[in-house]
This record gives sequence, C-alpha cells and structure tokens, in this order.
Amino acid sequence: MHGYDLLVVGSANADLVIGVDRRPAAGETVLGTDLVTHPGGKGANQAVAAARLGARTALLARVGDDAHGSLLSDSLRTAGVDTATLLTGGAPTGVALITVDPSGDNSIVVSPGANGRLSPEDVRAADRLLTAARVVSLQLEIPLPTVVAVVETTHARVVLNPSPPAPLPVAVLAACDPLVVNEHEARFLLGEDAGETPEDWASALLALGPRSVVVTLGAAGALVADQDGAVRIPSMRVRAVDTTGAGDAFTGALAWRLGAGDDLETAARFAVRVGAAAVTKAGAQESYPTLEEVEAVTASAR
Ligand code: ADP
Repeated sequence: MHGYDLLVVGSANADLVIGVDRRPAAGETVLGTDLVTHPGGKGANQAVAAARLGARTALLARVGDDAHGSLLSDSLRTAGVDTATLLTGGAPTGVALITVDPSGDNSIVVSPGANGRLSPEDVRAADRLLTAARVVSLQLEIPLPTVVAVVETTHARVVLNPSPPAPLPVAVLAACDPLVVNEHEARFLLGEDAGETPEDWASALLALGPRSVVVTLGAAGALVADQDGAVRIPSMRVRAVDTTGAGDAFTGALAWRLGAGDDLETAARFAVRVGAAAVTKAGAQESYPTLEEVEAVTASAR
C-alpha cells in the first residue's frame, strides 16, 4: 500500500525580500521598501507545487519553533501537503535574506537554520513514511548525509535536483531516476568536459551513474535522457513574468506524475507545462498552478 504519491525530503525557508534602489556595498546602509515574507525553500516549494496539482504529498523537513515555522506549516497545509513529518526545533527556521534592485538583480544571504539540523536520525525515524511513498524527491538544501540516509532507507523511486550544486557520492548518483538539472547544475557536475549541447550534458551525466537524466532548459523546455536515448520536450510559449521557483514547480510535478505511474517522457511533458504556467505569475509558491490552471495556460498557448 502506498500512502503517498510523493514524499519530498528537503528544505523549508522563509524568504525575506526588500526592494532597494541600489544594493549596499561593504559598510554601507541603504533604505529599502517594506519587508515582504514569502514561504520558500526548494523542498517546501516542490511539495506545494505537487499538492496544488492534486498529488497526495508529504514533506519531511525541519523548521524552527518560531513565527517563520508557523508561516511555513500554514502555507504547506493550505496547499494540501501532509505536515505530520514537518519537524520543529533545533535552530531557527531557515531564512533567505533577499535584496532586489530595480533591474531585478538580487543579493541573497541564506541561513540554513533548522534545515541544517534535518539529520539522518530524522530520516530513520520516518522510515514508515519512506516506505509508504512511491517517489521520494530530494534537493541539496539539507545536509548531504541526510540525503544519503534517504537513499539508503527508501525503496521508492528517487528524484534528485542537485541544487545548490555539490559533488555527489556514487551511491546517490546511482539512485537517481531521474537526476534533474538545469544548465548551471549540469556544468557544475561535469566540470571542464561538459560539452556544448544539452544532449552532450545528458550523455555525460548518464555516464556518472543515474538511471535517467532530465535537463531543464528554461523557455526551451527540457531534455529527457536514459539508456534508450534522448528526447527534447519543447515548452509552451508564454509571457514570462517571474521565473523564480519554476524549476521547483517542474520537479514537483515531474515527481508526482512518476509516482502516479507515468513514464519519464510523459511526466516531463506534463512538468514542462506546469513550469510554463508557473512563470506566468509573480513569486514562487504563489505562482504554482492547479490542474485547471495548467489546462487553461496550455489552451491559451495553442
Ligand atoms: P531553474 O529554475 O531550475 O533554472 P528552468 O529555468 O530550466 O529551471 O525552468 C524549469 C522549467 O520551467 C522549464 O523546463 C520550463 O518548462 C519552464 N520555464 C522556465 N522558464 C520558462 C519560460 N520563459 N517560458 C516557458 N517555460 C519556462
């Protein structure tokens, strides 16, 4: 019996955003706009994206015993994410301090806080959840030993987005089905020998051990590759307003559809539509579409 379509194990952050005329230099103080606080973190984003589409989703994450933790658990619950394994305490909730200037350039300081305390013991304590999911989705905003513990504990299909990019143990790479990367993450993992085209990156990444690879290509869509070959999946043409969190919407949707039984190409065709719908609205979680909204954006792009 699988209780969930998708278990996300990852980060939950409060994104604290201030608009400024000019980002401050060393020793400088500048005045900014009123503070806006958004729920974020790649784990929470993916879980919200999947749940809003209708997936039975749980999130294993850690927040602080503070107001930001409450903000996150409220936003997760509102989206329909099961928060029984949203753990509390150990450190303040993770925070991203973001200043944005009028050109849209930003400076970001991340304090991982409680995300850095999500431990292998927390994973082992949640082993019933790990066996109840069809798919487990991981990112790298939690400690790498915790990611390793998930891979060692679960029998579910593993989806991994290595963001922020970091070197990965062979056992983690071998578990990925798929490894989901954008161009930046692909180039990080491959180093000098990356090659020039997404097809080059995908075949070089497959040689590192994952069972399959998905390369997201922004407005150009995505590339799906496994031992049988590579397929390009074009995105829809949409008016992009804000691409923040598009990759998380894509991966949450992809992981859900894999859990629902789709093959990788079919799941990626759906995820590309979800990513495109997400960029038509401002924000990250605030921009994530329902199934009806995905259909509406798809229809209007025809
Ligand atoms: P990341 O946010 O991780 O860098 P991408 O920018 O590749 O990821 O975006 C993820 C997915 O979101 C893409 O595969 C695509 O489906 C969708 N997407 C992103 N930007 C656009 C855009 N400008 N137009 C249409 N779809 C987009």
